[in-house]
Amino acid sequence: MKNIGLFGGTFDPIHNGHLHIARAFADEIGLDLVVFLPAGDPYHKDSTRTPTQERLNMVELAIADEPKFAASDCDIVRDGATYTFDTVQIFRQQFPGAQLWWLMGSDSLMQLHTWKKWQTLVRHTNIAIAMRQGDNLNKTPRELHAWLGEALQNGSVRILNAPLHNTSSTQIRADLAKTHHSDGLPQPVAQYIRQHKLYEK
Ligand code: ATP
Repeated sequence: MKNIGLFGGTFDPIHNGHLHIARAFADEIGLDLVVFLPAGDPYHKDSTRTPTQERLNMVELAIADEPKFAASDCDIVRDGATYTFDTVQIFRQQFPGAQLWWLMGSDSLMQLHTWKKWQTLVRHTNIAIAMRQGDNLNKTPRELHAWLGEALQNGSVRILNAPLHNTSSTQIRADLAKTHHSDGLPQPVAQYIRQHKLYEK
């Protein structure tokens, strides 16, 4: 059976922390494929976003040399708000019989109970979590406790062991606005940002 990781994010821009956890998840869980899914209209985040096509272009550049990584416009081409529940259904139809893993950082876990049909989602989808700096499982909202306790036991939730890069898109956008440079970017993405004059203020 194939193990497929689905990695949703705003990716504004994609950074080395994203690539690092995708590689680490692939190693630790034994994923055959990781699909990066830039969000079209993320309903959890409302600040102005870089256009979807630019974010997708940067993801494609960042993963070009990674044989197990792919990018999908699945969450970009759908109209209106896109929900993980619907995205997973689409991939389930595309890869019948595959084990699907939704990959996320712990900041996303802390909001999971607000996601559409989250209980059904986690019943049929495994979840892989990277704990970001300052987070720990004790901070998980009460609504998630019963499910999380059981899921950690039965293996449908995995916590990444590998240490993380302490990088965020927010920090990178701030660095770029200030100095036109950031250390946390894959080289082809840094070049794209320069060429297209993104994140200048
Ligand atoms: P922002 O700073 O704009 O909130 P971000 O860096 O968190 O962005 P997203 O595109 O929102 O990036 O992240 C997509 C997913 O990757 C989320 O589940 C997020 O928790 C996770 N993630 C992002 N950066 C890291 C990191 N350095 N370590 C672990 N997980 C990360």
